[in-house]
Amino acid sequence: MVSLSLRDVVVTYPAGRGETVAVDGVSLDVARGEVVALLGPSGCGKSSLLRAVAGLEPLAGGDVLWDGQSVTGVPVHRRGFGLMFQDGQLFPHRDVAGNVAYGLAGAPREEQRARVAHLLELVGLEGFGRRSVSTLSGGERQRVTLARSLAPRPRLLMLDEPLSALDRSLRERLTEDVARILRASSTTSLYVTHDHAEACAVADRVGIMMAGRLVQIGTPEQVWGAPASDPVAEFLGV
Ligand code: ATP
Repeated sequence: MVSLSLRDVVVTYPAGRGETVAVDGVSLDVARGEVVALLGPSGCGKSSLLRAVAGLEPLAGGDVLWDGQSVTGVPVHRRGFGLMFQDGQLFPHRDVAGNVAYGLAGAPREEQRARVAHLLELVGLEGFGRRSVSTLSGGERQRVTLARSLAPRPRLLMLDEPLSALDRSLRERLTEDVARILRASSTTSLYVTHDHAEACAVADRVGIMMAGRLVQIGTPEQVWGAPASDPVAEFLGV
């Protein structure tokens, strides 16, 4: 069942007297519970596309739909979409539990407590609730960030290079955990990365972006097994 649909999405930025076309007519359907990774060289428009889906960037063309309904006129906070960035920017004055509970304001206390406990367990930080976030390692911080993003049960989670600030070995370990967590929570996700291994590990399908266009999409086996063009093959190193 399709949940997210992008139809000929265009994102532009003013540049001098003209404009930069950062996203140049991208169409994509994401099924409920599916994890799609967007992979491509620096500057190909991955982040711009994600920001447009979130509503942080206006569309210069096309449409973004959820369950067949356009969300283009819907403000960011009403879309029910979550975002996770490279630098999670945790609230320094709140402890771990307080950070995770951030998006649950308004829910009954007991429900918040149970949800926070469940999420901390899911991300492997059971018992960390009272810790100050300033005492956490980089990997722990990103786990808390992920738990915080998942807490309000976003219908779509968008992750923009969530692990790229971490060193290689930690990134590899956390990649597997993130893949497991997204599956365990059945979260429909768009995952931006420039790391091939990370894309393969987390995603059901990988979309290759080049110069603002989605030039290929398929399972990792399909994409690596049969790159759509010479530039894609070269980018993938096959
Ligand atoms: P990276 O992997 O390096 O983060 P990316 O694939 O996410 O790159 P974007 O950040 O979406 O690419 O950038 C796409 C193009 O749009 C680039 O040419 C970039 O310079 C340009 N761009 C992005 N944000 C802005 C902005 N706020 N103003 C002007 N141009 C922008």
